[in-house]
Amino acid sequence: MSATDAGRVEMYDTTLRDGSQQVGLDLTVEDKLRVATALDALGVDVVEGGWPGSNPKDKEFFARAAELPWRNAQLAAFGATRRPNRSADGDPDLETLLVANTPIVALVGKAWTLHVDEALRTSRDENLAMIADSARFFVREGRRVVYDAEHFFDGYAADRAYALACLAAAAEAGADTLALCDTNGGTLPDDIVRVVRDVLVRFPGLRVGVHCHNDAACAVANSLVAVAEGATHVQGAANGYGERCGNADLFAVIAGLELKREHELLPPGRLAALASTAREIAELANLPFDAKQPYVGSSAFATKAGLHASAIARRPDAYSHVDPSRVGNRAHVLVSELAGRSNVLVKAAELGLDLSSDPELATAVLEEIKDAEHRGYAFEAADASFELLVRRVAGRNPAWFDLEGYRVVIEKTDGTDRSEAIVRLLLGDQRVVAVGEGVGPVHALDQALRKALSELYPQIASIHLVDYKVRILDGRAVASPGGDPRTPAGTSAVTRVMLTSADHDGEWTTVGVSDDIVTASWEALADGISYGLLRAGAAAMVPADA
Ligand SMILES: [Zn+2]
Repeated sequence: MSATDAGRVEMYDTTLRDGSQQVGLDLTVEDKLRVATALDALGVDVVEGGWPGSNPKDKEFFARAAELPWRNAQLAAFGATRRPNRSADGDPDLETLLVANTPIVALVGKAWTLHVDEALRTSRDENLAMIADSARFFVREGRRVVYDAEHFFDGYAADRAYALACLAAAAEAGADTLALCDTNGGTLPDDIVRVVRDVLVRFPGLRVGVHCHNDAACAVANSLVAVAEGATHVQGAANGYGERCGNADLFAVIAGLELKREHELLPPGRLAALASTAREIAELANLPFDAKQPYVGSSAFATKAGLHASAIARRPDAYSHVDPSRVGNRAHVLVSELAGRSNVLVKAAELGLDLSSDPELATAVLEEIKDAEHRGYAFEAADASFELLVRRVAGRNPAWFDLEGYRVVIEKTDGTDRSEAIVRLLLGDQRVVAVGEGVGPVHALDQALRKALSELYPQIASIHLVDYKVRILDGRAVASPGGDPRTPAGTSAVTRVMLTSADHDGEWTTVGVSDDIVTASWEALADGISYGLLRAGAAAMVPADA
């Protein structure tokens, strides 16, 4: 550590090693390289690539990662201290770690007497020798050594002198960073403060950091208080990934320290890439992105209550703890049953529809939305259906096609499902009939609708379906379709279909509701195609009134 960066807090990402222990997170070597590239582009200091001794996948990763055009981050490899009662020279695991050829080596070693006695089953002195020998082995090879003191906080509570002796063994052997690990994740912030303070006093020349797990819901808080106390190294994972309850969410740590404590952690301007990086990594990990994730989630700055929306329109800073644009997110007003008039106005304005000059229209739109939501529609995630509804009420929705009718035949022969749909449309004064085949009725309807429209609207070729979700709503919670929307339907179940479509420029979601799944799907499908044509600027058969 040079004198100039002594006080700078280092962001050490362990998504590819500890984060990938999360259930359901399985990254190919290709995925790992892309995650590493995303983290490097964001500007973290260290990317821990994995444990090269643990599996061939990690070994291959290190070979290929060396070829990446690293811009900001350094690569670290992770491994354990040497085996008991052996020499570090010739230890096959240390050898594998060396061959990974990274500038940084993270060495995990025991720091809790319970683990030395029961898990390692060796003497306490031998564990100290294992830490020292292994650290020395890599320092001699010119590597920077980070000692991950496993179970440090539990070890400190059980036998403070021994836990500190483990750190001293690493420090004397040349490790430049002592990472205090809350491996079981149960430590609370006040204990973190006390222990980090003690360690900092004892090892003044070294970089001291923390590695916190979230089992007590304190991983981010523990990381922040450690830094406030003087720690200069924080380990965490993208989106808080990790086994059990996860690791510290490195993105929340970065945002908190940069926006609220004036730390410079990422290269200038890169904080604004936080939300898109978080989303990109969730996509690479093939995990659903949590809307409630602090700073970067789609709901992180979304507000539902109607009371707030008008105030938000006037003073956005009054209802959010930071300016969402600083982390690349945006304020977002949800449309919902609770929505007051101002919510609808703000939402419409977001979509480029100005309703504020027409109070009558705003009232009509609000009534429509309330009725629809009562029947089971949900517009929070279905921006496209919301916009079509507003346009419809305003008479500003071009009619791309009128449905005369459709018929769907579902056939099952020899274990194969095959559906056929016949769609009859009116396109102005022209009647078009098309047949589509598909796997399941919705696919068949989609095919038939596309065929019927393809000649008139060639833009349809670039619109495709990306996601389809069906939810059966509690029959008592919604009204019977077609009936008085305020009369509960009793036992009949209602199906809500959410359908996401995409073109070259982005995605949009539409919603359909009916007591029949095919009808609900058709509605979402027809809205999805209509909205796609609207985006594509296709000239409508029946132009909008106004
Ligand atoms: Zn861990």
